[in-house]
Amino acid sequence: MNKHLIMAALCCYSSFSFAGFDVITLGAKGGIQDGNLTAFMLKSNTDNNYITLDAGSIVNGLIAATNKDAFSDMVAPISSPYTQEGYILTQKIQGYFISHAHLDHIAGLIIASPDDSKKPIYALPSVHQTISQDYFNWKAWPNFTSQGEGFKLGKYELAPLTINQWLPVANTELKVKAFPLSHSGAESTAFLFKNAANEVVIYLGDTGPDAVEKSTALDTIWQQIAPYIQQKKLKGIFIETSFSNSTPDKLLFGHLTPKWLLAELDSLAGYVGGEQPLKDLNVIITHIKHSLKKGTNPQTVIEQELNADNKLGVNFIFTEQGDRTLL
Ligand SMILES: [Zn+2]
Ligand SMILES: [Zn+2]
Repeated sequence: MNKHLIMAALCCYSSFSFAGFDVITLGAKGGIQDGNLTAFMLKSNTDNNYITLDAGSIVNGLIAATNKDAFSDMVAPISSPYTQEGYILTQKIQGYFISHAHLDHIAGLIIASPDDSKKPIYALPSVHQTISQDYFNWKAWPNFTSQGEGFKLGKYELAPLTINQWLPVANTELKVKAFPLSHSGAESTAFLFKNAANEVVIYLGDTGPDAVEKSTALDTIWQQIAPYIQQKKLKGIFIETSFSNSTPDKLLFGHLTPKWLLAELDSLAGYVGGEQPLKDLNVIITHIKHSLKKGTNPQTVIEQELNADNKLGVNFIFTEQGDRTLL
């Protein structure tokens, strides 16, 4: 093989094997700040189209991201009738993944729906049922879906996910596998995404710790993703830390604190095994609640509590609305 071919092979090998993922934070909070509620855009770095992970805030997040130049390599063409945020929403977001139907995870989608483009809403059947019965029912909001109450405007196909089964994500290179989560009596969802280079990221919707929820949902997920960590294919875990350690277990209502997240990461580390099994693993902290009380910012407290006891050496990442993060 001549020198140029070797170079080309190396180049293609590396770009294919280390594609990574591109994340834009549309909403960073787990309540109560309307306009900044849980939603992220995700795509493989080798792809041109995004999906969203939850949809608490959409248009407000797109405006914030545009103002932070997050779309500098995805600028709306001059011929487009759309603003930059309109172009991304209608042309580049190819589907929504909704972990559960609580308003802080879907309000942005509902409010933007009149001017949105046709695309699927992916979720577990129980989540679709709530979306269909309680929101798109001509009482709370017109029925923009293709099922349920009254005349169906047909903009959103409710595309059901099957637990523990890989499914292709239309118009992207991604595949997705769903896992159920326990969220204080409600079914929430974790989505594992795989790109063309067989790298994965996992996004967990709201969840309590297994011990408090009396569940094995997180334990099952840790067993499933441990092999990807061993193969260095897991690029990041999105997981919530809603409250600081001062919140007693009986007031968690299906959420995590730093103490509980670290305990769950210890369980994951046990399945990965070896020395420093989670060292430098990207863990993106989501769903920190905005506080109306004077005093220390909850994010500052949660950040301190996580880093103070970070014996595993994971890389905790805190993002703000409009940030672009490469994993
Ligand atoms: Zn929530
Ligand atoms: Zn919730």
